[in-house]
Amino acid sequence: MGEAVRPARERRGTERAGSERRAAGAAAGSGNGPMKLADRKVHVVGLGRSGEAAARFLRERGARVWCSDSKTAGEVGPETVRRLTEAGCALRLGPQKPGDFLGADLVVVSPGVPTDLPPLQEALAAGTPVIGELELAARFLEAPVVAVTGSNGKTTTVSLIDHMLQAADIPHWTGGNIGRPLTGFLLADPAIPGPGVPRVVLAEVSSFQLETIERFRPWVSIWTNLSPDHLDRYPDMEAYAEAKARIFLNQTDRDTAVLPHEDAWLNAHPDRVRARVLPVARGGGVDPGPGAVLESRHVRLRLERDGPLERYDTERFPLVGRHNRENLAMALLAARLCGAAPDVLQRALESFRGLEHRLEWVGERGGVRFYNDSKATTVDSVVCALASFEGPVLLLAGGKDKGGSYAPLRGPLRQRARLLCLYGQAAGRMEKELAGSCPVLRVDDLEAAVRSAARSARSGDTVLLSPACSSFDMFRDYEDRGERFKQIVRRLLRENG
Ligand code: ADP
Repeated sequence: MGEAVRPARERRGTERAGSERRAAGAAAGSGNGPMKLADRKVHVVGLGRSGEAAARFLRERGARVWCSDSKTAGEVGPETVRRLTEAGCALRLGPQKPGDFLGADLVVVSPGVPTDLPPLQEALAAGTPVIGELELAARFLEAPVVAVTGSNGKTTTVSLIDHMLQAADIPHWTGGNIGRPLTGFLLADPAIPGPGVPRVVLAEVSSFQLETIERFRPWVSIWTNLSPDHLDRYPDMEAYAEAKARIFLNQTDRDTAVLPHEDAWLNAHPDRVRARVLPVARGGGVDPGPGAVLESRHVRLRLERDGPLERYDTERFPLVGRHNRENLAMALLAARLCGAAPDVLQRALESFRGLEHRLEWVGERGGVRFYNDSKATTVDSVVCALASFEGPVLLLAGGKDKGGSYAPLRGPLRQRARLLCLYGQAAGRMEKELAGSCPVLRVDDLEAAVRSAARSARSGDTVLLSPACSSFDMFRDYEDRGERFKQIVRRLLRENG
């Protein structure tokens, strides 16, 4: 799209202008270069949190800003409308019409806005540059960026690094796709104070955000993994993977990419990564050259080929599952690159408390444990969840279908599941694709699923909500679904004393 979708070979020459910046003793680089905003006419499309932050930032830098959203003022929210109006942004709410974005010098588009929106296509055809909020922020960030993408584990990995940098007293900002949009940190009066001058900017970045970058150049990129997701937005897996791989687009050999050693897509597309690679291997006698290796009770890592071998004890790492140890290994590499010391990192990995709605322990009764993994909206994350428990699992799944195949669950269900309780819009398709792999029960809603599973569970079993679907058919979002699950479980535990 516009500036953001010029062919890769043109972009490769787009080196970051400006001085070399140092962070934690390493070369900086978020790919930023000055961007003139004063008096430029900028149209911000989409007024979610990132759109609002971008619009306010643009106003502060002297741009003439108008904002649009297909939602009504009520849907956008009176507070957002008030803040934007006070900041001097013009607002156009309600369905966008042809010609709406014409006349702008720059269009800043939110990640949720479909790229085939007709007025957007029109602006592109007219040659108007179109970028996302991440790219806008990247042009102004002075500290090097550690960016994390992947189908699963982004938030966990970012939160781990954040926790480690806090433990190491390294001033940093953490935001992007989670928490605060990056332009929010650049406001003169950011609502949530953070360190004025960060040494590192830690960003979770989604494939949607990466679609609209141009020069964004992480100093360290992390690709946690790739599995089918968002196939309702992308025509196929290849398009989704290519969007994610844009995280590497502007990196050079002065930057670092932390990748899974066994990633099939990246191994089939080696030319996508020009940065120095630090692989994370799942063990099995892999040479611990630069990178990390997972062992049953340790993570071994080395930052440089001839550097010292470091060993982190993972016995007291509180998160369950091998996938979380992969997230941990990636976080350790990034935190080491940022300058955190090994002894600080050992203590930090032991004190990390985990995140809500991601394999979160809720309670136990009669030897049956209940776990909330409401954030598991992809099939792969459910496969990982099932592999994280020793005994039989009673899996509660379903919700809004995201378009991918459920077939990868068949093997793990056959091996691990005592029962699969299905509810919600996707239940029919899931039942068809999974029939025969374990006993299946169709129920009306989440409460019925919890109660049925609890009735069938025996001591040593785990009742796991790990839905493989998004939540929007029955809940506000995955957090709402997870909270509801916890309420139901806690009530059940109380009822049964
Ligand atoms: P994201 O931010 O990418 O959605 P989260 O850290 O929020 O990832 O985790 C989302 C879901 O994926 C949770 O169910 C979690 O248990 C699972 N998960 C976390 N890390 C991984 C991983 N490395 N591989 C597969 N699934 C994972």
